[in-house]
Amino acid sequence: MNKIVEKLRSSGGISDSELKLLIECKSPEVAEFLRKNADEVRQLHYGKKVYLRGLIEISSYCKNNCYYCGIRRSNSSAHRYRLTCEEILGCAENGYKLGFRTFVLQGGEDAYFTDELLCPLISEIKRRHPDCAVTLSLGERSEESYRLLREAGADRYLLRHETADEELYRMLHPTPMSLENRKKCLYTLKKLGYQVGSGFMVGVPFQTTEHLIADLRFLQELRPHMIGIGPFIPHRDTAFSVEEAGELNLTLRLLAILRLMFPTALIPATTALGTIAPNGRELGLQNGCNVVMPNLSPVAVRKKYDLYDGKICTGEEAAECRVCLENRIKSVGYEVEISRGDAIDLYK
Ligand code: SAH
Repeated sequence: MNKIVEKLRSSGGISDSELKLLIECKSPEVAEFLRKNADEVRQLHYGKKVYLRGLIEISSYCKNNCYYCGIRRSNSSAHRYRLTCEEILGCAENGYKLGFRTFVLQGGEDAYFTDELLCPLISEIKRRHPDCAVTLSLGERSEESYRLLREAGADRYLLRHETADEELYRMLHPTPMSLENRKKCLYTLKKLGYQVGSGFMVGVPFQTTEHLIADLRFLQELRPHMIGIGPFIPHRDTAFSVEEAGELNLTLRLLAILRLMFPTALIPATTALGTIAPNGRELGLQNGCNVVMPNLSPVAVRKKYDLYDGKICTGEEAAECRVCLENRIKSVGYEVEISRGDAIDLYK
């Protein structure tokens, strides 16, 4: 098994059957060998640095109905809110003082956030904080919209493909959503010059190892700058409420595999990973992750951006999250990096 890890590290090229063995391997020794290799590769390119992204959750309204998600349209128990432009600028201001140089505006697909509203908002964030990157994570929009947002100053876009298997995609997303459109959006974003992030959930209902291999193969084709993966976690008001959450060790193996396949990618240790295990994000960092995304949303709305049950960090002020994460990063021997942290683009 260690031979497969070495092969993956030296060339990135391994067969589907080898990937399957690695993904399914339960041996703690192999997991440790994989981890060690992923950490070495990460340190080769990024040293001990961990980049910070300040997450601003701008809306819990969503027109989509993804079966796994707590803010899906049909969840009548969901608490809906949207931040005003002044509130979003306030979050960025606060984040800037705390040392953040990337702001991620994330939300459900909310028609209220038109291009007419977002473009001046993005320009204003960039005007006030010219040394910062603006990342958007607002779901599927038209090419024209992505173009206008880019022209207004947006630098990056996060849009997980969620699963690269057509059939599984349909089991997780009712019509009119489609994998085809998801992929189209991702290629459009790349074409428009965004630094693009994609990714998938680990352990969603009906997911097999073959599906995970398809996810890795799709990422090889897309070549995103950032890759976000995290365990699926059930939400009480969804059809998947009684399903099991994705496994910690499987997620960690996949993170390490991603680091070996995509040596220079920016890979976050996600909040979902920190939710399924108290030290999940620290373990993520040790398995190849080099980004964390602390929450800058106003405390009053935090609990309402309720994608899955038990989400951590919903009670603390931004400043507390910042200190807490810095301590967690240091506790495993890494260091916080205060800079925009753009992707090293070796893909061109
Ligand atoms: N509307 C935006 C943002 C979605 S929320 C978009 O479409 O990209 C960000 C991510 O949270 C999603 O891409 C999904 O992968 C993840 N997510 C949603 N529900 C989840 C759940 N129940 N468990 C774990 N992750 C979830």
